Amino acid sequence: PDRATEIRALIRDVPGYPHDPIVFRDITPLLADGAALRDVVEAFARLCEGDDGHAIDIVAGMEARGFLLGAPLATRLGVGFVPLRKAGKLPPPVERVDYDLEYGSAAIELRTGTLPQGARVLLVDDVLATGGTAAAAAELVERCDGKVVATAFLLELDGLGGRERLSGRVVETLLRVD
Ligand code: IMP
Repeated sequence: PDRATEIRALIRDVPGYPHDPIVFRDITPLLADGAALRDVVEAFARLCEGDDGHAIDIVAGMEARGFLLGAPLATRLGVGFVPLRKAGKLPPPVERVDYDLEYGSAAIELRTGTLPQGARVLLVDDVLATGGTAAAAAELVERCDGKVVATAFLLELDGLGGRERLSGRVVETLLRVD
C-alpha cells in the first residue's frame, strides 16, 4: 500500500462517538507511531516549501489536536507557533470569536499581541468537518492583523461542507474520507 493508505489505517474510526450518527476519527494511534507522525509533519512542511509553497511566518493551531500537529510543524519550518484556544484558557488580554456548532455555540481566543503585525499564517488542525471551527479561527487570526495564507488539515471529511464553508481560502488536506 502507498504511504497515505498506511497512514489512513492509523486513524481509528469510532462509530457512535461522542453520539450517533457521528463516526469519530481518532488520530491517537497515528500520533503514537513515530514514523507516521514524522511523515505527516513532513507532508505539511512540504506545502510550505519551494517556489510553489506557501511562504509563512508562523503556524496557528486549533486546540487541541491542532497543537499536536502544528507545533512540530512550526519547529520543522523554523517558525513560531500560536495557539488558538477554547474560551477561558488564556490570560487576558485576548481577542475572541464566537461561532455556532450543530448544537449550541463555542468561542476561541488568541492572546492579543502574539501575532506579529501582518504575519503570514498557516492555520492547522487535524480534521476538517463542517469548517465552522476553521472559519472562526481564520476570522480570529485576521482580527489580530494576521493574514491566513492557507489552512491545512490532516483529514478532510467529505460531504460536510467544510471546503465550501472555507471558499475563497486555500484549503490543503493530506487525506480525505467520505
Ligand atoms: P468542524 O468545525 O465541523 O469543521 O469540526 C472540526 C473541529 O472539530 C476540529 O477542531 C476537529 O478537531 C474536531 N472534529 C470534528 N470531527 C472530528 C472527528 O471525527 N475526529 C476528530 N476531531 C473532530
